[in-house]
Amino acid sequence: MDKKKKVTEKKMPADSPKAFTPAAEDLQDAPQRVKKILAVLRKTYPQAKCALDHDDPLELLIATILSAQCTDERVNIVTKDLFRKYRQAEDYAKVPAAELEADIRSTGFYHNKAKNIQAACRAMVDRHGGKVPATMQELVALAGVGRKTANVILGNAYGVPGIVTDTHVIRLSRLMGLSPQSDPVKLEQDLMKLIPQKDWTFFSHLMIFHGRSICIARKPDCEHCPVREYCSFGRIGR
Ligand code: SF4
Repeated sequence: MDKKKKVTEKKMPADSPKAFTPAAEDLQDAPQRVKKILAVLRKTYPQAKCALDHDDPLELLIATILSAQCTDERVNIVTKDLFRKYRQAEDYAKVPAAELEADIRSTGFYHNKAKNIQAACRAMVDRHGGKVPATMQELVALAGVGRKTANVILGNAYGVPGIVTDTHVIRLSRLMGLSPQSDPVKLEQDLMKLIPQKDWTFFSHLMIFHGRSICIARKPDCEHCPVREYCSFGRIGR
């Protein structure tokens, strides 16, 4: 058997975090466990906040679009100069596409990102007086903006609570046994029922911080995890 075939046929171990889906019994006590999880994570990461540098809703919108398939650190490096050059939605709308592409190139997928940024900024100039709208409905009507990005903007720029179902939030919510969903919209709906509305934005930050420091994708450090006793994956003895 050649090496390539061997790799494709390799099965994921049953106890792998990637293969884990919480069972019905895991979900039953999720409302009680999520309260404990929130309390512990709040104490563990009191500094949890949006990792994308920004001073206003427009900067956050641009940074969030750039963060797709890119690290927050890289986005922050790029936006340092970008935000000095482009001050308003009109600046992005008017610049030649090739120039904007060159400015954001190192964030990857720069052709599509530039296209979305320009289309979103043109729509904001045409329909919202150059401002970033502050409702879910208006935000998701902008190019490149889905519910996840809209919740980032609403929660962090406008103080409207929103759950951001990014890759960490999806992965950790399943491991913790808060929801079996991997579809972001369905997961968001499950979490909205479990978590008090006032905590939606901070909950997302906490999960992202925990997913970057302890519950990391390639190997969650369950042994040193402060929420292990409340976590479906962790409490069954890993
Ligand atoms: S115990 Fe902690 S590190 Fe392990 S899967 Fe659960 S949340 Fe992640």
